Amino acid sequence: MATHRADQRLDERSLFAEYPFLPGSEALLEGEEVSVRALLEHPAYQRARTIGEARILAGAEDPRGLRDVSELAGAPGDIRFLSFLFARLVLSAGPTAAALRRWAVSEAKRSYSRLANVSVEELSEVARRLGYTFEPERPNVAVPLVDYVRLSVPIREADFRLASQEVRKGWVLVPRVRAARLLQEAVRLRLAQPLPVAPEVSALVREVEAELFEDLARRTPAPVARTGIAGGPIRPELFPPCIRKMQRTLQSGENLSHAGRFGLAAFLHRAGADFETIVDQYRGAPDFDESITRYQVEHITLRDGGRGYEPPECDTLRSHGLCAREGDPTAAVEADRARDPRCFDETLRHPLQYYRRRGGSVVERGEADATGPAATPGAGAPGTPGGRGRPPSTDRR
Ligand code: SF4
Repeated sequence: MATHRADQRLDERSLFAEYPFLPGSEALLEGEEVSVRALLEHPAYQRARTIGEARILAGAEDPRGLRDVSELAGAPGDIRFLSFLFARLVLSAGPTAAALRRWAVSEAKRSYSRLANVSVEELSEVARRLGYTFEPERPNVAVPLVDYVRLSVPIREADFRLASQEVRKGWVLVPRVRAARLLQEAVRLRLAQPLPVAPEVSALVREVEAELFEDLARRTPAPVARTGIAGGPIRPELFPPCIRKMQRTLQSGENLSHAGRFGLAAFLHRAGADFETIVDQYRGAPDFDESITRYQVEHITLRDGGRGYEPPECDTLRSHGLCAREGDPTAAVEADRARDPRCFDETLRHPLQYYRRRGGSVVERGEADATGPAATPGAGAPGTPGGRGRPPSTDRR
């Protein structure tokens, strides 16, 4: 996205076109009534639907929100707004919340790429319209302490810890770019909330967009390898049946046990997965909470100087009912439905052993990266408030 000149102010229409999540953005339609059915089916809105689908798929394909939506460039304000509305409506009516949450992350990150380059006045205006008070204090921005805490809790970077901030009489003084990152969080929070959709509207959306929902259901977010470690790319197709089943369970919006959530995070960390994409695996959980999940994934992965907790062995997973070597009859892919003979080899004791035997790379305990803050004791499996992490095993895989 082009850099926005710091002293340039936007008129209201341009503001709404750039930030379609702002309350009042429907003014871009200039009184035109657009019914849900028309938005979903009328040829006049085909371009908005095409761009809206591109927005949805950008969120589904890249959980880090880095994929650009080239179709947005050059689109007029009303089409941009309608494409946003289409995406939000479709995902709010979808069968699970995971796709909506991922989309919220990617839209929020797209907003950040602009917000990080605009004037403090534009930042403050966007914040005000979202219900936050960001006061310009050139070159910084003053944020009320209560808003700062609310928006910074899910942010993992050490720079955002409250102890590192300049606090004056209940206000936190932050540089402009850090304020933009806080606003990114405000946008994510807003968009992660589904629109209230009546059951008949939901049924219509699911019928008309059945193909898109099928496509989304097939896309288990692929973990991305973190930087600074040895080993090749992550190979989800080589993951053992137990781990693949845990991923599918979360993806379909079903509950995964505490032991399963813990085992999945610990396995992905040793398989070299990036922190953000481990967090992303849990977005489908019915009780997903961004800040709790980040805190707990951080605990599991940063323990012991970045080595992380040891994932559970096969015997432990079996005792928790998490072994899937007999096959999963509910799986969409034939290979996942079938019994896996590799898992019946009597020398196999650990899911990481399975992964390595198939050609996957496992991060050795001695080479784990040690970036980020020290782990906090007492956290549990991702998304399970108050649970405690499993103690590490002595088994080295
Ligand atoms: S045998 Fe081990 S690796 Fe295979 S599915 Fe069961 S727990 Fe997972």
